[in-house]
Amino acid sequence: MCDTKFLVDSMSGKLARWLRILGCDTEYVDPSEGDSLILRLSTSRILVTRDRELVKRAINHGIRVVSVPERLEEALAILSASEGVRLKIEPKKSRCPFCNTKLNLVRRAHVVKGLPREVLRSHIKFLVCTSCGNVFWFGTHYWNMLRTLSEVKKKKGSLRFSGGPVMTGDGNDS
Ligand SMILES: [Zn+2]
Repeated sequence: MCDTKFLVDSMSGKLARWLRILGCDTEYVDPSEGDSLILRLSTSRILVTRDRELVKRAINHGIRVVSVPERLEEALAILSASEGVRLKIEPKKSRCPFCNTKLNLVRRAHVVKGLPREVLRSHIKFLVCTSCGNVFWFGTHYWNMLRTLSEVKKKKGSLRFSGGPVMTGDGNDS
């Protein structure tokens, strides 16, 4: 489960897709957009960006922002440590990586036609997006994602060891 809603800068598309798969309601914003739009979009969302200028602008406007590095694993580790993003794929809670709609977990018989026969034959459950029509299954890509998540967990462990990311405050909270 992911209780936090995010607004991710459009340069970090991969990170946004991951947050959606992990069940977090995640929208994009283009860093070149005017501050008024970013302010409006971020009222109920935490801004996540690796754009330093955008971080400064957000802080000036009192927007809650998390600055993340470019590397996906590190970015997810930071968001997990600071915002409580669960590093677990729960298919019933996942959102479509392409359009942010909650996915439906269905059995094979409910999947629309058009998938490769081999995929249909070797999988029982599928995730379907009712909004954009994409269908996902637990193939090689899924297993690779689980591997990535275990990398992220290791990174998170080392973050904790070094005191975790300090986004606000004076850093003397120990
Ligand atoms: Zn979709």
